[in-house]
Amino acid sequence: MTAGRRHDAIVIGAGPNGLVAANMLADAGWDVVVLEAQSTPGGAVRSDRELHPDFVHDTFSAFYPLAVASRAMTSLRLEDHGLAWEHAPAVLGHPFGDGQWAVLHRDRDLTAAGLDALHAGDGDAWLDLCRTWDRIGEPMVDALTSPFPPVRAGARLLPGLARAGGLDTVRRLATPVSSLGRELFGGPAGALLLAGNAGHADFPLDSPGSGVFGVLMSMLGQTVGFPVPRGGAQALTDALVTRFTRLGGRIETDAPVTRVVVRDGAVTGVVTRDGESYDARVVVADVAAPRLFGELVGEEDLPARVVRGMRDFELDPGTVKVDWALTGPVPWAGNPGAAPGTVHIADSVEEMTQTLAQVASGVVPDRPFLLTGQMTTSDSTRSPSGTESFWAYTHVPQPSATRGDAGDEVTGRWDHDDLERFADRMQARIEARAPGFGSLVGARRVLGPHELEARNANLVGGAVNGGTSQLHQELVFRPVPAMRGRAATGVPGLFLGSASAHPGGGVHGAAGANAARAALWQHRLRALPRRRTR
Ligand SMILES: Cc1cc2nc3c(=O)[nH]c(=O)nc-3n(C[C@H](O)[C@H](O)[C@H](O)COP(=O)(O)OP(=O)(O)OC[C@H]3O[C@@H](n4cnc5c(N)ncnc54)[C@H](O)[C@@H]3O)c2cc1C
Repeated sequence: MTAGRRHDAIVIGAGPNGLVAANMLADAGWDVVVLEAQSTPGGAVRSDRELHPDFVHDTFSAFYPLAVASRAMTSLRLEDHGLAWEHAPAVLGHPFGDGQWAVLHRDRDLTAAGLDALHAGDGDAWLDLCRTWDRIGEPMVDALTSPFPPVRAGARLLPGLARAGGLDTVRRLATPVSSLGRELFGGPAGALLLAGNAGHADFPLDSPGSGVFGVLMSMLGQTVGFPVPRGGAQALTDALVTRFTRLGGRIETDAPVTRVVVRDGAVTGVVTRDGESYDARVVVADVAAPRLFGELVGEEDLPARVVRGMRDFELDPGTVKVDWALTGPVPWAGNPGAAPGTVHIADSVEEMTQTLAQVASGVVPDRPFLLTGQMTTSDSTRSPSGTESFWAYTHVPQPSATRGDAGDEVTGRWDHDDLERFADRMQARIEARAPGFGSLVGARRVLGPHELEARNANLVGGAVNGGTSQLHQELVFRPVPAMRGRAATGVPGLFLGSASAHPGGGVHGAAGANAARAALWQHRLRALPRRRTR
């Protein structure tokens, strides 16, 4: 082991949360080093040309409404550091029935007109929902992304809720999305938009929490769109890295941290796989909770309540993601008019409910609910003109929890054969909505739970959100009740700043920002002279 290098703070992991935390600490004048296990920074915000040199594929995440809505990200002014956003002609589409489409446009009147054409009255219902959101949306996003309890944002949210209908609106938001869709809309299209958006997290669609999440994602789509970084997801990471290094921060890649050193009950630094040690009185861990608590930090160094809480910690499901390099645009049946960037594939809300129930009970679904992305449609730089960089992902049970396959083909080992068979099942769903899709496939890549985790240790078993998003592990319960929705871990100097912390998964940087604020507060170093940021 070499002698320790001293820093004010060490950030473990260069995902969006780690990089937001690093930027904020560097803004405060701290000397910060980020240690990243992989050879490229970004965590689940990266792109590659592995499939075909002319095609950029986002390896993991792709659409960033949360980044443009969250103050943690917007306050960094990443546009000044090279980031540019692009939008597809329409935000989101959901084909259903016989060539019909539910389409979310950035113009609410267009969305409403489309819904109304499918079922008279649904346009007005959509516009009513938008007006409610106008009153509560901004403080609600602020409240959800603040440390718990969100006192200031909560104080702004309450009058908005009162003006938007008070308890009636609160009850609506607490309604499971499957019922909410039926309450609000006469036809299937509005309900599909809400339910598909709720399906981005792992709520059962008949559970409380699914409604508010479906409304949140739908209304973000309506107000800020589902933007993508020009050039690929990596461009968002590059802007975070550029800003940080301009402040004097350093990122070391290929530097997996294997141990957080705790002496006399407080953090003193970390050790990497190569035996390098780094000293600091603050460590922000952009690390999944099951990897941090008990692995990087031994149970003997953790508060007993955290150790107990982690015994009940629940991961979210696994994931299979397929990328395609297509020789032409996806030949969707029925013309959605303006082409959407994101397309959801499920026949009905009932089918989605059943599929998610299969996943929750350990069964590989026979009719997987697909989230897909038309990336060249969203950003023309992603592949040559006339082609499409396309992906789809879906959730499957955690490998360790897989009990069977409703389609009788997948063993649950998620080896090469399992992945190819399951990718064929996913592709067949697309083919049914876009006849001729298969003939456009130039190349295909399948990333299953094991491949995702190998490329990013936080994606444990392919879990994309650092732990279930269901209510029993949200807000004050995240990641364990002992932490009360805050970043402080109970070990002085150690802060949890990953998606496992409140407010959970998604590229909003709020967990990292909360950790950085907690570190700054704990060390009362806010008075240090600030360096110029630009
Ligand atoms: C397939 C997929 C699709 C998604 N789609 C979207 C989307 O479209 N929009 C959206 O908002 N969100 C999406 N998400 C979720 C989102 O990407 C994550 O919630 C978000 O990236 C979490 O950020 P993070 O910084 O907490 O962790 P991560 O982005 O996972 O980064 C963690 C980093 O820490 C590093 N690390 C871990 N352990 C160590 C260690 N011991 N030493 C050193 N480094 C370590 C990892 O290598 C990684 O670089 C998606 C996720 C996946 C996997």
